[in-house]
This record gives sequence, structure tokens and C-alpha cells, in this order.
Amino acid sequence: MLPLTYWPDERLVQKCEPVKQIDDAFLLFVESLKKTMLKEQGLGIAATQVGVPLQVCLVQETYGEEPLVMINPVIEASSKKKVLFGEGCLSFPGLFIEVARPAWVDVAYLDLNMKRHLRRFDGLPLSVCVQHEIDHLRGLTFLDRVSRQERRKILRKWKQPWTEYPPPRSTQAKSGSRKASYKKKKAGRRKK
Ligand SMILES: [Zn+2]
Repeated sequence: MLPLTYWPDERLVQKCEPVKQIDDAFLLFVESLKKTMLKEQGLGIAATQVGVPLQVCLVQETYGEEPLVMINPVIEASSKKKVLFGEGCLSFPGLFIEVARPAWVDVAYLDLNMKRHLRRFDGLPLSVCVQHEIDHLRGLTFLDRVSRQERRKILRKWKQPWTEYPPPRSTQAKSGSRKASYKKKKAGRRKK
């Protein structure tokens, strides 16, 4: 388990360095990232969400199964058609916002054997989840995908579980229970 970075932590808005080699330390990091995602019940996770500026993210294609590891992912093409989808994010506890994104994307990425893949991600929520995680590796969050006006409105309404950064431990625990009750209301929506 790795500690999560919560918005507005500046490590969330940094651009990540490409991964140059897969060594034991990197494999261990990916394993910890995976454990963190599963523990936090995220549909995906990016290295910036644990404060590490490396281009690697994980996405659960099928919830509960081995996640897809994407190293140095690049969106090569995307559809003109957009889809609107309610997104959550581990870095914004309790916040769900509607974001419009291309319906499909073609992504080039490396796997853990440094093998290159070019794959089309189509369909919800996978396509959206992949785009959301790749955004994280470029220092972007879903707030960057809505208008400035909407962003202000969202942040005014968002009931952050804490008022200062870093959140005190006791507050984090409380936010967990708040999250749980919120999740019940918004069944079907998952955090990324
Ligand atoms: Zn996120």
C-alpha cells in the first residue's frame, strides 16, 4: 500500500518521466500500485496518484481481475464522437463529475516486458478510464476536462473531507466512511 496524493497536492499536476528500464525496483513499485488501487477500490490508478512522476498507470479491464499495466502510454488517435460519463477519482474523494471524452482512443504503450502494443479502447467505462489515467501522467485531472466556470462550481460544491493539506489521519478515516455511504447512493460509478 502506498499513500495516495489528494488534490490539490502539486505532485498531481507534475508531468511524468518516461520509464526507461524495467528492473526489480520498478516491478515492486507496480505491485504496490496495484495493491493500492485494489484496496482503494479504484478502477484505475496512475503513478502520480501516489506521488511518483513516472509514466505508468494501471487499468482494470474486468473488475477484480489482473489489471492492465500501461507503460509510457501515448494516445495516437481518438474518435470525433464524444461520450459523457460520470467519473470519480481516488485523488478527489467523494467527487463525481460528468466529463465528455472521445468515445474511443488508440493507445500505444509498453507492457512489463517492454513489448509495444497499439490497441483501440472502445466502450464504457474502459475507454474513459484509460483516458483519465493517461491524463494523470501528463499532470492533468478531470477538472482540466471541464470549463473553468464549471470547475469553479464543482469545487464550491465539493465537500472535501478536510480543509488543509495533508489531511490528518483521523479525518482520512472519516472520509472513508463518507465515501462508503456516497458510493451506495451512486452505485455503478467507480473511482479511477
Ligand atoms: Zn484519477
